[in-house]
Amino acid sequence: MDLNKTFTYALKEGDNACRGVRVEVPLGSQSVTGFVDSVEESDLSLQQYSEKAGYQIREVIRVIDDEPILNEELYQLGLWMGHQTVSPNIACFQSMLPSKMKPRSNRKQSVVEYYVHLIDETRATSEKQKQAVELLRQGDVLRSDLNRAYPGISAILEKKGAVEIYGKEKTADVSELDIREADYDLTQQQVEAIEKINKSEKDVILLHGLTGSGKTEVYMQLAAQKCREGRQVLILVPEISLTPQMVTRMVSRFGHSIAIYHSKLNDQQRYEQYQLVRNHQVSIVVGTRSAIFMPFDNLGLIVLDEEHDHSYKQDSTPRYHCRDVAVHRAQYHHCKVILGSATPTLESYARAMKNVYELVELKNRIHQNLPSSHLVDMQSEIRRGNYIISAPLEKAIRNRLDNHQQAILLLNRRGYTTIMKCRKCGKIIQCPHCDIAMSYHKDENKLMCHTCGSEMSADMVCPDCGSNNWIHQGLGTQRLYEAIQEKFPEARILRMDADTTRKKNGHREILEAFERGEADILLGTQMIAKGLDYPNVTLVGIFNADALLGRTDYRSVEVTFDLIVQASGRSGRGHSAGEVYVQAYDCHHYGIRLAVRQDYLGFFKNEMEYRHIGDYPPYKYMIAICFASIDQQKARDLAWSASEQFREDETIRTLGPSQLTRIADEYRYRVVLKGANRDQLIETVWKWHDGLQINRGQMKIRIDVDPYVLD
Ligand code: ADP
Ligand code: ZN
Ligand code: ZN
Repeated sequence: MDLNKTFTYALKEGDNACRGVRVEVPLGSQSVTGFVDSVEESDLSLQQYSEKAGYQIREVIRVIDDEPILNEELYQLGLWMGHQTVSPNIACFQSMLPSKMKPRSNRKQSVVEYYVHLIDETRATSEKQKQAVELLRQGDVLRSDLNRAYPGISAILEKKGAVEIYGKEKTADVSELDIREADYDLTQQQVEAIEKINKSEKDVILLHGLTGSGKTEVYMQLAAQKCREGRQVLILVPEISLTPQMVTRMVSRFGHSIAIYHSKLNDQQRYEQYQLVRNHQVSIVVGTRSAIFMPFDNLGLIVLDEEHDHSYKQDSTPRYHCRDVAVHRAQYHHCKVILGSATPTLESYARAMKNVYELVELKNRIHQNLPSSHLVDMQSEIRRGNYIISAPLEKAIRNRLDNHQQAILLLNRRGYTTIMKCRKCGKIIQCPHCDIAMSYHKDENKLMCHTCGSEMSADMVCPDCGSNNWIHQGLGTQRLYEAIQEKFPEARILRMDADTTRKKNGHREILEAFERGEADILLGTQMIAKGLDYPNVTLVGIFNADALLGRTDYRSVEVTFDLIVQASGRSGRGHSAGEVYVQAYDCHHYGIRLAVRQDYLGFFKNEMEYRHIGDYPPYKYMIAICFASIDQQKARDLAWSASEQFREDETIRTLGPSQLTRIADEYRYRVVLKGANRDQLIETVWKWHDGLQINRGQMKIRIDVDPYVLD
């Protein structure tokens, strides 16, 4: 199956096109938009050319762009990405462009401005006219500006023949830099970090620093430096709605030199931000994953903040990782990439250990030492009858309420309880489309599938035995909210999860209310673990901290470690010391113990051993191929035949196929390839895919190079 078929069309007389320009062409009975890959001149007529080709060549209906919307660098980037991710080039181009770059919006909406030009100053008579002429002697003035100073004057002078008025298309001016200084001095370790980064000969820097150690300030210093050199800067962040403070800080530092680019903008806003970069009206972009494709032509620095965050990996075709694209673009622009994190991925830290990346560390927090952390064994708490809130955490919450300080409580599970189970026969209600238990949402008395989104009423009798006696098991944010409110009736609690943030700006409203001190407790899912910086928060409580360890995924310990460390970092960021309580059932697990101690290096060493034994990244590269179909037989057969073909290659290890849970009515099978050489793995998959003959309507093949998780 050929993913990158190109088609030949003829340009109409007088039409021009080149690589990277979009065209509207007929395809079958439809008309579709395509990208021009190459243009060839020919003396032959359309008829002659068709005869030579052996098929009827059709004409391009319309050339959409005057100039390529993807310049050569971005066009090549798309091709490279397609190859690296084993996906169609066109899918790459599509994910590189804001969706508004559709045919019509590209027609320039030019704005004309009118200027006044002096031709004969002797014709000015009145005092006011003479003053205006004086002004015009120094150069042409915008008509609107002149009339603001001397109302109605331009028409009078024009009538007298003293001036002429002409229109000129308004062009975007390159903005002057708008950079303010920090209102504090850099710490010694920040100064040293900046020096080390500037001196480094490596292309990629890993900036490893605790939360609150001043990494963001380092980014801003380096960004200002690059802008003053006339170069552009890209700062990538995981999710803007969850880190409004980061944006506020950047905007107050860089004023109108900055563009903000993220998925919550509407199409028009995204398009405008894109054009700001294209026209050099901004020097700095702060954005989420797709901002990596902005049309920079003179990049001086790329920063990936929280580089471990999984939002940097796209989970639909093309499944690229933003870090890889960043490194690739930085090579083209001869600039550095800074990866910043308190909990770097094992891949990045291992590269730093091997001297592929430069390791720069910020070892101390700016204001405070780390919060003191406590691990609470829930097994023994339950024996004392404390099912949800442990005694030490309860005491700590009470203490915060008494002292008017704030607390953040994290539970990685929304909904009321996890599952609904029949008391009589033990049946667990599952999603009819996925082999996954439905979550009970008490507010709406509904069962919801958190995987495919389907819902049903919770008013039901057991489909197996007819009983209507249900047990609700597990703990969700709704239930936790109730439990806390019961214990602390006077506490003002805000809940933040996918249910309470569904409406536009939902995140922002909740976070801002918390920041203004309108609540004592912010309770939520992992959304509240990242980036928040509230000085009055001195307590963080984490419930079911080891719940994620139960997953079979190779990265589950890393994800658990990150979550605990990141969430702990929210506590004690101001001048009062912070505390963290981590509630877990399996308190002996190294992932939990080391996270509570904030011991990244200890965790790294332990986890690397496990990855080594299991042949997982960073020791080996992986490609996961998922076969999905409504037709179980078809999915299974294709997965088996693929795995047999891969097994013939002795340089790679082929695992599976293994059957995954059914999701949204699709049966899924997965084959995993492991190998020491990434390029070779990719070549192998391409070769297999090229030889494949399948009906794409009946079978979906999802290829994931460097899968972030395998669960
Ligand atoms: P990180 O990005 O590592 O979490 P930040 O850069 O956000 O750390 O810094 C944490 C806090 O310390 C912020 O509130 C920031 O304004 C403040 N800060 C950063 N650098 C300094 C400094 N040199 N002096 C005083 N305060 C600082
Ligand atoms: Zn039953
Ligand atoms: Zn479902």
